[in-house]
Amino acid sequence: MSETLENLLQETRQFPPPAELAENANVKADAYKEAEVDRLAFWEKQARRLHWFKEWDQTLDWSNPPFAKWFVGGQLNISYNCLDRHVLAGQGDRVAIHWEGEPGDTRTLTYNDLLIETKKAANALTSLGVQAGDRVAIYMPMIPEAAVAMLACARIGATHSVVFGGFSVDALKGRIQDASAKVVITADGGYRRGAPSALKPTVDESVAECPTIEKVLVVRRTGQDVAWTDKDVWWHDAVGNASEEHEAPAFDAEHPLFILYTSGTTAKPKGILHTTGGYLTQASFTHHAVFDLKPESDIYWCTADIGWVTGHSYIVYGPLSNGATQVMYEGTPDTPHKGRFWELIEKYRVTILYTAPTAIRTFAKWGDDIPAQFDLSSLRLLGSVGEPINPEAWMWYREHIGGNRCPIVDTWWQTETGAIMISPLPGVTNCKPGSAMGPLPGISATIVNDEGQPTDGGYLTLTEPWPSMLRTIWGDNDRFIETYWARFREQGYYFAGDGAKRDSDGAIWLLGRVDDVMLVSGHNISTTEVESALVAHPAVAEAAVVGATDATTGQAICAFVILRGGASVSEAELRDHVGKTLGPICKPRQVQLVAELPKTRSGKIMRRLLRNIAEKKELGDTTTLQDANVMQLIKEGMQTSTED
Ligand code: ATP
Ligand code: MG
Repeated sequence: MSETLENLLQETRQFPPPAELAENANVKADAYKEAEVDRLAFWEKQARRLHWFKEWDQTLDWSNPPFAKWFVGGQLNISYNCLDRHVLAGQGDRVAIHWEGEPGDTRTLTYNDLLIETKKAANALTSLGVQAGDRVAIYMPMIPEAAVAMLACARIGATHSVVFGGFSVDALKGRIQDASAKVVITADGGYRRGAPSALKPTVDESVAECPTIEKVLVVRRTGQDVAWTDKDVWWHDAVGNASEEHEAPAFDAEHPLFILYTSGTTAKPKGILHTTGGYLTQASFTHHAVFDLKPESDIYWCTADIGWVTGHSYIVYGPLSNGATQVMYEGTPDTPHKGRFWELIEKYRVTILYTAPTAIRTFAKWGDDIPAQFDLSSLRLLGSVGEPINPEAWMWYREHIGGNRCPIVDTWWQTETGAIMISPLPGVTNCKPGSAMGPLPGISATIVNDEGQPTDGGYLTLTEPWPSMLRTIWGDNDRFIETYWARFREQGYYFAGDGAKRDSDGAIWLLGRVDDVMLVSGHNISTTEVESALVAHPAVAEAAVVGATDATTGQAICAFVILRGGASVSEAELRDHVGKTLGPICKPRQVQLVAELPKTRSGKIMRRLLRNIAEKKELGDTTTLQDANVMQLIKEGMQTSTED
């Protein structure tokens, strides 16, 4: 990206908060003022929402940037904050997790149950030789034991590294080796798309090349046959027979809580390290503020997998620290039918739903008639995370899921930021479809140009340290500095890797990764804006846009488009539609109708691969792809259409 980003898409629709929500909101407009007056005092106040065994001496130590220390000298236990605290306050009988297996089996865990399981698991891990500071890999399906495993590690000060249960041997092995993990916690398998899907064989193959692993703790979930080695221990033996007594020890605020490898959309995964006090302070506060959670009455559901940071912060640590009752679902949204999510919302009377644009666009593709068959009237707030949400996808979510009554919080953040950074406050903000609106109270973000000067369209940066910021890349301080802090070294800004623009009201619009920005005849055009223009056509459910080398314009816009169920439209019409919406310069050179798009396992479009196709190069690395066949299908589709 050389100059600044073009500002193409204009959006005038705006939705104020529902009056009742605004009236009773957990966090109101004065929070912005308060944080502006004294940012550190604001965060101290949020830290006091937690239970500390010992208060901190210093709120922030930023004497050695970019290595931050928050709540220096303070001591706490995360598991105590998520569990013991609520039980001691008389809330032990409150449901923590309504769990639903893919085949329809269910389990209900109260805070009491979750605390007992976690204490037993903590004792079991200790007797397997795990000590504070050791690393434990967690490779699990979406079952309650996954949350228990994380909480048990946190309880004894072991640093967990959760690896998404769909990852391959190489991915698991690489992450275990990078962190020198001592134990793996896994399961025989989990249910995916109507069948048991094995996990243990992947662990066995990985562990064979990971000499640091001493024990493998295995939950029996599917009952499928598993090979057994002398490192293996059944969860129901080790945890089942463990004592229910366990006192949570105090850990330093900067004690390492977890390593999580970024999803690898762009490069070799980075082991992002998060610590204890600052992380929980911000995960807990943002969950309280952005989702407006009322623990006595809300039923909250975050559809992410615990293998992603969203699962860490908004299934485990944020909601549990706030005493939430939540739904946890094991399977995929289309098993056994495409209305599964809506069926669960109806069944559990879910009030708050947090999901991803990839899911929303898929639901739109499947058709409006599917959610219409279910009672979604319990919903009062919707959230989105993971990618920019196209304004029309936002409107579809609002209308067909939210019944035109629920505010939508579009939350921008990253594995690296640990918690939500840019988002509306649902009781305060007048939301615009497709905009993450503004930094939360206590967060400082700005959009800058190449020289690090403020601009209306360019690089998104964070200008002040925040409590849940990553502390480093595990084992690689140089890469940490190089990746995030070198680009705007002079200003001391954190560079997020994303492009953004600010509109005339000051609202922030995320424009995708700066690596994806297209340079067309000297104009920097964001993929997001062209995709949003395409999705605004009534026939289009989803679009991915890339810039391919072009002899005349430098780069030419190539679009890959998925139509809504039953819709049909010509390529020429879509090209004209974009030209009319954004201007002739944005008219794609070609539009390719496809059935699927290449996505990472967390559901994000992999534009790099599409660029290779558009430029007719080799496919490159497809190991993080959700479905490697998709690329072949798109390629074949391209060949037939050019032969046409
Ligand atoms: P890697 O860093 O390994 O390439 P990743 O960036 O996909 O993977 P995550 O940390 O899960 O890994 O995702 C964070 C990124 O997701 C952000 O930098 C941004 O590009 C995108 N993102 C997340 N939420 C939003 C949002 N609400 N609006 C726009 N983009 C978002
Ligand atoms: Mg990233």
